[in-house]
Amino acid sequence: MIEKSLKVLVVEDNPGDVLLVQEMLRSASEDRIQLFSVNRISRAGGLLDEMSVDAILLDLGLPDSNGLETLRNIHEVCEETPIIVLSSQEDEQLAVTALQVGAQDFLVKGTFNGHILIRSIFYAIKRKEMDSKLFYMAYHDPLTGLSNRKHFHEHLLHSIAWSERAAQKFAVIFFDLDNFKKINDTYGHLAGDHLLRQVSDRIRRVVRKVDTVARMGGDEFAIILNNLANFSYVAHMARKIRKYLCRPYTVESTLLEIDFSMGISLYPLDGRSESDLVRKADRAMYQAKASGAKRFHFYNNEMDDRETSRQNVRADFKNAIKNNELCLHYQPIISLRTHEIMSVEALVRWRHPRRGFLFPGDFLTEIMGTELIVSLGDFVFESVFSCLSRWKSQGILIPVSVNVDLMQMKQPDFYKKILRLMARYPDVPPHLLEIEILETTSAEDFPNLREVLDSLHGLGVSLSIDDFGTGYSSLSYLKKIPFDTLKIDQSFVISMLENRENLAIIESISSLARIFGRNVVAEGMEKMSYSPMLMAMGCEMAQGYAISKPLPPEEFIDWRSLWLERDHSEGVLPGSNIAELSILLTQISHLSWIQKIISMAEKVDDSFSSIPEEEGLERSPVEGWYSNEGVSLYGDIPTFERLSSTHRESVDLVREVFRRIREKNKNATRYYSRHLLLQKDSLLALYGALQKDALFHSIMRGKLEKA
Ligand code: C2E
Ligand code: MG
Ligand code: MG
Repeated sequence: MIEKSLKVLVVEDNPGDVLLVQEMLRSASEDRIQLFSVNRISRAGGLLDEMSVDAILLDLGLPDSNGLETLRNIHEVCEETPIIVLSSQEDEQLAVTALQVGAQDFLVKGTFNGHILIRSIFYAIKRKEMDSKLFYMAYHDPLTGLSNRKHFHEHLLHSIAWSERAAQKFAVIFFDLDNFKKINDTYGHLAGDHLLRQVSDRIRRVVRKVDTVARMGGDEFAIILNNLANFSYVAHMARKIRKYLCRPYTVESTLLEIDFSMGISLYPLDGRSESDLVRKADRAMYQAKASGAKRFHFYNNEMDDRETSRQNVRADFKNAIKNNELCLHYQPIISLRTHEIMSVEALVRWRHPRRGFLFPGDFLTEIMGTELIVSLGDFVFESVFSCLSRWKSQGILIPVSVNVDLMQMKQPDFYKKILRLMARYPDVPPHLLEIEILETTSAEDFPNLREVLDSLHGLGVSLSIDDFGTGYSSLSYLKKIPFDTLKIDQSFVISMLENRENLAIIESISSLARIFGRNVVAEGMEKMSYSPMLMAMGCEMAQGYAISKPLPPEEFIDWRSLWLERDHSEGVLPGSNIAELSILLTQISHLSWIQKIISMAEKVDDSFSSIPEEEGLERSPVEGWYSNEGVSLYGDIPTFERLSSTHRESVDLVREVFRRIREKNKNATRYYSRHLLLQKDSLLALYGALQKDALFHSIMRGKLEKA
């Protein structure tokens, strides 16, 4: 019956009983059982730490432990080892409970012989093996072999109990793969499975033995980092895990780059209960995802506050439409060349009974993804049609553009609703309606997007892509979407004079629109002085505070009357381009750099605590222009040489400023920064002169070439 030699431990305080068991086993097993014995539960623990045994024979009444407690204690030390209870009393109830607590068999002393005992040991071992297999299946994920959700929860309960007793800390990390669905859709489910297995293998390799890793379902994983000496280790581990997991994967012989969103909660900082820790890690993960910053997020209380505020906003918004608290303001979009009003954009406002006048930024994200955004959309369309009809009756025909949320457009009756409105307002020509969708509205999230947009186009409704430049549109996306206008996101326009990259973005969006033969609108034009520059870059329309803030409909009509009365001849520019854009761009970058240094130097206090952290600020951003493009285009113009040496002087002055800051010499810092200030004026004059000279040169060159 026994093929190999077995090690059995008997835990028994009565030496006579130990001898008896020894005798029985020896005669019945022909010495194939090696017996070890201890007489205290505490000693059993010590022995089992040093060696493993195949089975344990356990007396429940020991000097340091009694009854079922004895069984629980030993079971905790060696979960995997089969246990046979040797009881001195015949007690059916005790026997059943012992089996429930984890024993494999229950024998009453004096009622068994050697053969029965050996059979019991053998069956106990087999039963334990089966149990372990079943346990494994019930608690592990078949695909990856990691713990499953159920097992994770048990581990978590265990970590809580243990950490409470040992006054220890631990962390819970939740994470999932960004865009896993896309991978499944593109490469098929087998490839998806293959990827999940690779991810699991990497996590297993990166964590320690004491940690728990689980697959919670789909592409969601969880880790428990146990026994933490301090919480800074968690950030270190999170970074390390991200680093390992973000390395490329080979799936279907394609290299895939994958990113992960991670949320972390900490015991006991964020909670002491299982539900708290899970909820908070989960929320932090969604926060990480929403921020798009591709990193991990620790849970913070603000997230709960935000959740409460979201619930409140939603509850209030339900009544807002009914109680007539919403209204629309209208902001004009004009032609920069002619100052003609091309259209107006309808922007929602909320007169909140308690919170006062609210802008979309105060409530829109809270209602996104819910039915409320659809109700808002219905309200907006209704108001816009009624307004268009009213204006039409006053002889005013201005197109109105409406911001439409993707969820709104996904409604099966979206198109029908618009048809119904058109039928109810037959006086409103359909071409007066424009629709704005965000650049981030993707055709992948909504396969019927194209169809819906085509139908709207068919009606004469035109389409703008809003906040362009903030998403990741590809040319093929633009080819798929039947748009009429690109609206450049205001973030690029507002700071276009301080940032050369923003200018380049505006320029390239404008030329993109030109390639497609579409219009382009600059949003956020806060100064009229941006106008020539925008036009030079090919952007012919603008919207912004410099023209008008969004206004209630009646005020907009008053504004319009005044606007029409104004003499716009000054603003109307011929179709000229700024001759030398390259010089102007350099001027902007150079002067804004100097301005930054001056403001920094002026802020320096006695403690020198406000030293700048902006990387590379000490280097001139236009150095490269002077040594390459500048010299090759304008090297033969004398003004360029003067400008170039003034640029070098400014570089030297900046270096001095930084040197004095490092020496913590406030007066000297200020001295050099004031020098810089003086130099700004001469730079401005020189840049202007170079522009004129360059223009003159290019005209002369043209003449010479003609001659
Ligand atoms: P948007 O569609 O890009 O609208 C332009 C936003 O820029 C408006 O903000 C407008 O007031 C603001 N703006 C205009 N000119 C300037 C300027 O010169 N400087 C600055 N700093 N800002 C300027 P608002 O009204 O707060 O709306 C914010 C966003 O909320 C809108 O951005 C739009 O995406 C969304 N939104 C507004 N109304 C609705 C609506 O009825 N439905 C939906 N789904 N979204 C809406
Ligand atoms: Mg808009
Ligand atoms: Mg916008």
